[in-house]
Amino acid sequence: MSEKRLPLESSTILSLSNKLGTPFHIYDARAIRKNAEEMKNAFSWADGFINYFAVKALPNIHILSLLSSLGFGADCSSLPELLLAKEAGFSDEKIMFSSNDTADDEFAFANELQAIINIDDITHIDDVIRVLGRLPEKISFRYNPGKERTGNVIIGNPVEAKYGLRNDQIIPAYKRAKEKGVKHFYLHTMVASNELNEDYIVETARMLFDLVWKIKKEAGVHIEQIDLGGGIGIPYRPEEEKISFYSLSEKIHSLYRNMIEKCGYGRLRISFECGRCITGPYGFLVTKVRHVANKYKNFVGVDASMADLMRPALYGSYHHITVLGKEDKANDHIYDVTGSLCENNDKFAIDRKLPKIEKGDILVIHDTGAHGHAMGFNYNAKLRHAEYLIDDDGIYRIRRDETYEDYVRTMLREKERI
Ligand SMILES: *Cc1c(COP(=O)(O)O)cnc(C)c1O
Repeated sequence: MSEKRLPLESSTILSLSNKLGTPFHIYDARAIRKNAEEMKNAFSWADGFINYFAVKALPNIHILSLLSSLGFGADCSSLPELLLAKEAGFSDEKIMFSSNDTADDEFAFANELQAIINIDDITHIDDVIRVLGRLPEKISFRYNPGKERTGNVIIGNPVEAKYGLRNDQIIPAYKRAKEKGVKHFYLHTMVASNELNEDYIVETARMLFDLVWKIKKEAGVHIEQIDLGGGIGIPYRPEEEKISFYSLSEKIHSLYRNMIEKCGYGRLRISFECGRCITGPYGFLVTKVRHVANKYKNFVGVDASMADLMRPALYGSYHHITVLGKEDKANDHIYDVTGSLCENNDKFAIDRKLPKIEKGDILVIHDTGAHGHAMGFNYNAKLRHAEYLIDDDGIYRIRRDETYEDYVRTMLREKERI
């Protein structure tokens, strides 16, 4: 069981929503800091341990700089994400560039920032050489184990996945990189997403510990750092259990001792690229009930829509909902909670048991701190909403509401000379 807590007193959120206007996302900096420190402490045995926060999960510069100040790195996969990371104070080996289907200017800019370029495909070696004139001093390859692993629902079966080098391509890739003068070698994989079984992550570590030996023997290359990717899940449902960083770390440590230390591999750093488990549980979407409608089903229409949080519509994901001021009431009504898009899958919940809801009630949708605002979009000309941050000394607005002027700013009518 994981208790679904609010970041502030229910009455405080009620008065905040009156004052600020709804809807908005609000993040708890205090909880994010505590959680990030916990991850660092759990892996303190691993010399040089780093988590590159996956920028895509919550790409707000103020969150990124908070994580930068804690010693986290940034995991980017596009040019604007690299710019965000730079702006937030990350540089050099604190930036992992895990892109796929990468554009030339992205390779060039990643190189300018001296980020670690994580190559997704064997043919991209030539692209990097063409763009930069050589390979950078440090390089990573993304490994796809194919049939060796089963994957999971969100990320899919590795054989079907578009990411990474095949098993038979990985040795030739490192050999080639070595020939081209690369000095520092990294190895990356990402085979899970929102995984709540820690043993699955441990198995990924085992797979890479095996692979670094194979690479050493067959390519004569010493991998300095492995990156286990992201994918540590969070308990979206109250009956689910959080993965403990300590328990996960202990199991990986034990493998590390047996497979790396005792066998005399030499130095090997460990890294992750987790986004979701760092900020996900500490974000909340606060929205107001506009209408309660009784059609063939009972509908609660709120002022947020899937343009603010797409996960339920995209993956059928569960996001817990708290009705403020009614926490102690019985969940004896059944509702679909909907937004106002002209799309019938614009629903935050389907057949959800909740207390009796009235117009004007404030709902808090939990676990929106990753892939929430970040996945937002402008369909139906919906304007994107504000983000707030609860810190020790008060509440900060870290993104304002988008305005109509923002929305139309990129529209123009210019004759093209062709
Ligand atoms: C999405 C992604 C991550 C982060 O995954 P989480 O589930 O947020 O931990 C890390 N690395 C890559 C390459 C990704 O695509």
